[in-house]
This record gives sequence, structure tokens and C-alpha cells, in this order.
Amino acid sequence: MEKLEMLYEGKAKRVYKTDDKDKYIVEYKDDATAFNGLKKGSVHDKGVVNNKVSSIIFAILEEKGIPTHMVSQINDREQLVKAVEIVPVEVIIRNLATGSITKRLGIEDGLVFDEPVLEFCYKNDDYGDPVINEYHIRAMKLATESEMAKITEYTFTINEMLIDFFKSKGLRLVDFKLEFGRYKGDIILADEISPDTCRLWDLETNEKMDKDRFRKDLGNVEEAYQEVLQRLKL
Ligand code: 5GP
Repeated sequence: MEKLEMLYEGKAKRVYKTDDKDKYIVEYKDDATAFNGLKKGSVHDKGVVNNKVSSIIFAILEEKGIPTHMVSQINDREQLVKAVEIVPVEVIIRNLATGSITKRLGIEDGLVFDEPVLEFCYKNDDYGDPVINEYHIRAMKLATESEMAKITEYTFTINEMLIDFFKSKGLRLVDFKLEFGRYKGDIILADEISPDTCRLWDLETNEKMDKDRFRKDLGNVEEAYQEVLQRLKL
């Protein structure tokens, strides 16, 4: 597979065309940003860890019947993926209240929800990824009703699978963000699932093992990301 020109550079990844029009190469960077790009930094080998973590998780989900963009991990920083058109809706699922929902709604930090809370955000940095609902999504033609039905079903199923998977690795899946794409008429899981996009707490100590260490200047960001990868490999 030949890597051709860069198509897009995001905050954490670069996307390249390939000589196959149906495939892209995604390259994971060490750049770290938070608060809609206001906080910037770099975490040594974050790109390597996120590439490996996401590759492991996408392979598990694919095996369990969730269609994903993952074709193969090429090397430490690159993946070969299906050339999806990203649906500009960030899908967030929360098992426990923390982060933006506590500030937005005054919910007590740490409250365990009786059922997972699903949220949609408009993926647009100019507006700060605002929370939207399915009426906005249809009105703005971000996705169709049937696409949103699939996205919602996949998201709840992925949550159930990943709660169990992370639990077996001594980690609590607090919340996470998914992105989906269109590929040959289907909706498939895209983007990444990693400590950048999930909140993962140690099951025993509640220690944060994710991007909140960077967001909140808690230190040992690199070590926490490496620890997540090591646990997933066991
Ligand atoms: P919150 O809305 O509390 O900031 O985030 C909820 C969950 O979604 C967290 O696991 C967070 O990492 C993830 N998330 C939400 N928006 C983004 C985003 O724009 N980028 C990344 N990497 N993760 C996000």
C-alpha cells in the first residue's frame, strides 16, 4: 500500500490517501490538546500507545460483530483504515457522572447512573462541539434517522462490551466518545478508542488512567497511557 498526499491533519492524527481509493492511512501523533485546543502539549509516544490500544479494541469489537473502519495496524504509528466519510456527530456515553456533564447540569461528580447516558455533540471546533439532540441532527442534515438508529444501537452494544473488557483489565470505563463514518452505504465505527477518548479509572484505587491526567495537570501522563496498553496486552 503506497502512502500518498495528506488529506487532513487533526489535533491527534493525520490522514493520508493511498493508491487504493477505498483505503486511508491514519498516523497517530504525540500532540495533545484539551479544552477545544486552548491547552496544547505533547506526550512522549502517546501516538504509539493510542495506535496500539485502538487497534486492539477495534479488533475485539470487529470480532464481536461491530463493523469498524480498521483494516490493519501497519506499524507503531500507522493504521490502514477504510476511507469513510465521518458523520459530524460525536457520540458520548456515560456510565458515571464526571467532566462536562457535572458542570453543565450540576450532577454530583461520581454519581453512577442507573442506565448509561447517551449524548450527541456537533463535531465543529468553531462552535466548541456543542451538545445537540436528534432533531438538530436531522434539521442540520448531519445524519439520517436510520443512520442515527444504527449509531445508537452500536454505541450501547459497544459500551456493554467495553465495560466488561476493561473490567477484566482492572479498569472502570467511566465514559467515552465515538465517531462513526459512512462507507459503501453502511455506518461503521471510525476514529479511535484510546485513553484520549475514554475516561478509565483504576478499579481498585479510582486513579485516573486517561487524558484527564493531561487536562488537569495530574502528572505521569505518559506512564498512565503505557500502563493502559500493558494491561490490555495481558
Ligand atoms: P466530557 O464531555 O465530559 O468532556 O467528555 C466525555 C467523554 O468523551 C470523555 O471520555 C472525553 O475524553 C470524551 N470526549 C468528548 N469530546 C471529546 C473530544 O473532542 N476529543 C476527545 N479526544 N475526547 C472527547
